[in-house]
Amino acid sequence: MKLVFLGAPGAGKGTQAKKLVEKYSIPQISTGDLLRAAVAAGTALGKEAKSYMDKGELVPDRVVLGMVEERLKQDDCKKGYILDGFPRNTAQAEALDKMLESLNMQLDAAVSVDVPFDDLMKRLTGRRTCKACGQMFNIYFNAPKKEGVCDKCGGELFQRDDDKEETIRKRLDVYNAQTAPLFDYYKKKGILKSVDGTGSIDEIFANICAALGLK
Ligand code: AMP
Repeated sequence: MKLVFLGAPGAGKGTQAKKLVEKYSIPQISTGDLLRAAVAAGTALGKEAKSYMDKGELVPDRVVLGMVEERLKQDDCKKGYILDGFPRNTAQAEALDKMLESLNMQLDAAVSVDVPFDDLMKRLTGRRTCKACGQMFNIYFNAPKKEGVCDKCGGELFQRDDDKEETIRKRLDVYNAQTAPLFDYYKKKGILKSVDGTGSIDEIFANICAALGLK
């Protein structure tokens, strides 16, 4: 199963991808996570990426494409994978097609997780993450029992730099201008599966499984 997950920031594609990973034991390749790891490690690539990420802009294609190609060549990708947050523009989608051709791989589906704009704003501006264990909360939908403190481990909760309101607006603008055209791109290829991304995590997961014909 080789999948691309499309969806605006905050659409929950990362959460849903993780559920598929658990069920089917295939790797999730999140370019956002790979970039954040490079930022945390303080590599040259990470330093370059951070300046774009903090502004809500896309990191240059050459940086992301190299990272993805390296990852796809690893053995665990042979039986499948979920690309989460990649491709983000048409140039990346075309480069991915070439990459897959050279690796003799083919995508099975591009899943789009659809969520209305107002919901996305709340999901993103409300998001808080535990510094210690990474557990995520949302002050609107899934608030911690005590403000600013992780229910699970007592760690301090923080807001990602790119989850601040101004950056979020920018990220959503970038999404509409650069990523949304990919719906047509994959529709023309006949592999687009659009899924309603509102409702509970389990309901959305059921929608995705149904769209992919999975039990
Ligand atoms: P995400 O966690 O997927 O929302 O990504 C967080 C940030 O990482 C984005 O706002 C971009 O700055 C950067 N990023 C993630 N994936 C890509 C990509 N495929 N192309 C360019 N930039 C990306």
